Amino acid sequence: MLAVNALDLFVPALPVAFTARMRTMHPLTAIMFRHCFRFMLFALPLLAHAALPQSSNVPGGVAVVPLCSVAVCAATPQAWLGEQPVLVTADHDEWVAVVGLALDTTPGAHELRVKIGAETKAQEFVVSPKDYPEQHITLKDKSKVELSPTDEARAEREIVAITELKLHWRAAQDTDLAFILPVKGKLGGRFGVHRFFNGEPCAPHVGLDVVVKRRTSVKASAQGTVLAVADYFFNGKTIYVDHGNGLITMYCHLDRIDVHPGESVSKGQRLGLSGKTGRATGPHLHWSVILNGAMVDPELFITMGSARH
Ligand SMILES: [Zn+2]
Repeated sequence: MLAVNALDLFVPALPVAFTARMRTMHPLTAIMFRHCFRFMLFALPLLAHAALPQSSNVPGGVAVVPLCSVAVCAATPQAWLGEQPVLVTADHDEWVAVVGLALDTTPGAHELRVKIGAETKAQEFVVSPKDYPEQHITLKDKSKVELSPTDEARAEREIVAITELKLHWRAAQDTDLAFILPVKGKLGGRFGVHRFFNGEPCAPHVGLDVVVKRRTSVKASAQGTVLAVADYFFNGKTIYVDHGNGLITMYCHLDRIDVHPGESVSKGQRLGLSGKTGRATGPHLHWSVILNGAMVDPELFITMGSARH
């Protein structure tokens, strides 16, 4: 009856800045946020020449910021966006920062703090605005969208835990930015879509939905280490894979989890089986990509190649 088949009914992980503000948000905002909960229920020096994600200097995108020529800077530069360390890699003859931009990033000029040897400098880059599509969903049976106070409290606790995981940093020499889609299937909900349930704005969709049958093998997008597994109220059974240097992938609504925290996984290795656990209208994989704590568009990592060449 509605165009909500095989969608998650909750945005699994909100932009870091948004979730970080939850404890101090304006009461009206907090009310809206809780309201949405109810409706959402239903419905290093890396390898030289490393493949880079598609550069997209927009909120929810990835900025590739040149830092220094490899010939000039022998040691890998370090970079931070605010307090958060940022992935730095060599792209041909140049060191570049690969910066995740949260959906609530303000368009305009931004700065990285860059340390090259003993010198620290600011490196400016510009973020352009982007209008993501809207999805309006009308839910007639409101009895199915109510959260009990217990469930609501659980969901809010889990968002805090998710936020902490997103900020995880592990320095690595072998981060692979050339991802594979974890499952083959029809693409469903795209990244960044603003969802409205019965006219009420809810948090945007910060992942990519791939519609697949239940118990389809879900594969690791790239090599990494299992950071955590969990069974969340909204996201259902979830796996996080840490690819190093602030790059993390998240696989949600799984039927079965076949890995454990701390386990090394290779690209294409089965992590588990797809499902519809948590709050999902049908079996699908919700796949998110986190970079320096920001949820970014996963499709940028699949359409590979340096956008700067
Ligand atoms: Zn989703």
